[in-house]
Amino acid sequence: MIQRSFDAADPSYPSQYLGGQSIGSVWGMHNVSPPLHPHIRLPPPYDLHQDTILCSSDGVFFHVHRQQLAASVNSFASLLIDPTVHTIILQESSPVVNCFLSLVYGFSCRPYSPSFGVISEAFDAVLKYGFSLPVLVPPESELFQDLLHAADSHPLRVYTLAAHHSYEALAVAASAKTLSMNINEVTESIASEMGSPYLLRLTHLHSDRKETFKELMHVAPDSHPQSPGCTPERQSSAMRAYALAAAYLVWQATPDVGNEWIVSNLSPLLERIDCPLCKQNVRRRIDVVLEAWARVRCTI
Ligand SMILES: [Zn+2]
Repeated sequence: MIQRSFDAADPSYPSQYLGGQSIGSVWGMHNVSPPLHPHIRLPPPYDLHQDTILCSSDGVFFHVHRQQLAASVNSFASLLIDPTVHTIILQESSPVVNCFLSLVYGFSCRPYSPSFGVISEAFDAVLKYGFSLPVLVPPESELFQDLLHAADSHPLRVYTLAAHHSYEALAVAASAKTLSMNINEVTESIASEMGSPYLLRLTHLHSDRKETFKELMHVAPDSHPQSPGCTPERQSSAMRAYALAAAYLVWQATPDVGNEWIVSNLSPLLERIDCPLCKQNVRRRIDVVLEAWARVRCTI
């Protein structure tokens, strides 16, 4: 086994472990981030002697504090039960251990730009070694916010990551971002990865929103009593025009449509209705639709 210590100050250290960034920039910008090296002085409360060595599957040593790992609820997957053991061989690769330890110590992962795959394996490690994702990656944390930001362009990946690890807060937040995608993008392997409960909740979210939108749009505006300025035929014509526009919107709508989209598509209809009473009734109906649509749940 190739044995190296994780020393961010060592210019010979392979840059691939640092997300392709130069060691100098990582060290200079984040001098308390994961360089878990025996000679590095960490700020309190981590300034105690690093008394345990974790060795990744690719032979990189991480000098850590047993006290920090003791926060685990399963004695670090039972690897810390024996107090005489000071070197522990892990099955995870060094980028994964690095990301995992960054979470345990509350350091930033950003300098290493971990991929989804590395973050996913680090989340696996969090659970395997007896830590809690809501505790290590709370909603206000940098990684949680970075993942939510990534969900703008990769909603399904972030939702699947959260679902796979049963991380409810992240799954709920990411589910809102999935409304812009087609639910048919969920392949069999993705479905299997997220698990049936989260898959079911996601499909219900999408189908419920589409169904609710359909129900809202299919209700016709009120009719007004006979009036000298409007014949029954003109009133029927206004109602038909609304029904046609509503059917078009239902056909076009995706689960993420907002009120602005609804207004921009129905406003031209109002301009074509001559009768002030018919126009008022259609406008009232649109207002009811907008108010109800804004209240429809947009997360699992
Ligand atoms: Zn009328």
